[in-house]
Amino acid sequence: MKETVQHAPSCNDDFDPSSISVDAARSHIQKNITPITGTEKLAIRSCLNRVLAADIQSPVQVPAHTNSAMDGYAIAGTDLPTENARKYKVIGTAFAGIPYTGNCQPGQVVRIMTGAAIPEGCDTVIMQEHIEILDDEHIAVGSGHKSGQNVRYAGEDIEVGSTVLTHGKRIMPADLGVLASLGIGEAKAYRRPRVAFFSTGDELCSIGEMLGEGQIYDSNRYSLYGMLKTMHVDILDLGVIRDTPDSIREAMLSAAAMADVIITSGGVSVGEADHIKPILESLGAMHFWKVAMKPGRPLTFGKINNSHFFGLPGNPVSAMVTFYQFIQPALHTLSNAQPQPPVTLRATCTTTLKKRPGRCEFQRGIYQQAADGTLTVGKTGEQGSGILTSMSQANCFIILPVESSGAEVGEQVEIQLFDTL
Ligand code: AMP
Ligand code: MG
Repeated sequence: MKETVQHAPSCNDDFDPSSISVDAARSHIQKNITPITGTEKLAIRSCLNRVLAADIQSPVQVPAHTNSAMDGYAIAGTDLPTENARKYKVIGTAFAGIPYTGNCQPGQVVRIMTGAAIPEGCDTVIMQEHIEILDDEHIAVGSGHKSGQNVRYAGEDIEVGSTVLTHGKRIMPADLGVLASLGIGEAKAYRRPRVAFFSTGDELCSIGEMLGEGQIYDSNRYSLYGMLKTMHVDILDLGVIRDTPDSIREAMLSAAAMADVIITSGGVSVGEADHIKPILESLGAMHFWKVAMKPGRPLTFGKINNSHFFGLPGNPVSAMVTFYQFIQPALHTLSNAQPQPPVTLRATCTTTLKKRPGRCEFQRGIYQQAADGTLTVGKTGEQGSGILTSMSQANCFIILPVESSGAEVGEQVEIQLFDTL
């Protein structure tokens, strides 16, 4: 009998020379993603959260006419009093949508409402709070006003022919308003990526089934559904697939026939029921990486026909962390959306964070903002990769870099808010 046993690197080891970095895995994936080419013309409301497939040029100018930014009195800037207050005759009223059609002469003003076109002969508006009413037909205006004040110029927001929204822009609520302000009713958007996913595992039961000995409910399909839903993709839930090579091969092939992206969870480690890697290799291209991260080390990425394949680890927290760190940016690229680098902030740690150097860790944290604006963050309880409540209690990841050996109370750490994911 030998005195020592040579260990292979496992998911318990912090340093594994065969691991690649989170950034390297992300950039390998990005390089291999082929963005969707299919487009469709949609009514603008249906474009919300879609990615624009062409620039949008404005057919009109906004504002359409030079108009008042205030309720008040329109006047010629050259006719403003320079020293003493002066008396002016009010010759009419301009409403938004009902212009004053006469011509304003020196010594005259036009009562004007916000949004009303500036009448002929005027280029300046005096706020109604800054005048004195003398009688039904006359006002007094003091000095100190500037020629051109309180006026919004035709085309100052958008000029005719200018590009207002660019190819690759994800349409947000403000963009719907901008399109409507130009009178544009339809826009060309990329079709949504179709994403099929299934869970693998003989131990998995679906909601409504009685749990047998050693069985657990499948949670990954539900957290995956939630994460995909917020990404505005078309979702195909293919259920739970048993841990046999035949059933997994069949599920992978039928997913490839209907989806741009296939996501599986479980079965990517080195156990005897872990069939994903050899089957992916036999059906298409396979990249398997041990990523120097925790949780979520094993990650399989590849292609089956025209579909991109992601095999996520089975542990529920690992599946979510790898989704956010790798699949989310990949889906952005696939959708043709302009790159959206992850936003991180610095926060002061309120709990001790344990870590050994060797891997980048995504601990689950709860951040708070104090009245003075400073951010603090503490970890949720236990950080095991099976403790899914650590994700549901958290509102951010605490990202501890590879070389970090943890953090003490009061140290600054990097956080990534879930709301920005
Ligand atoms: P595996 O990667 O298949 O070895 O699974 C690793 C761990 O994650 C095991 O404890 C599994 O029971 C668990 N697991 C795998 N898939 C799921 C799932 N869909 N929902 C909840 N737990 C899972
Ligand atoms: Mg399994």
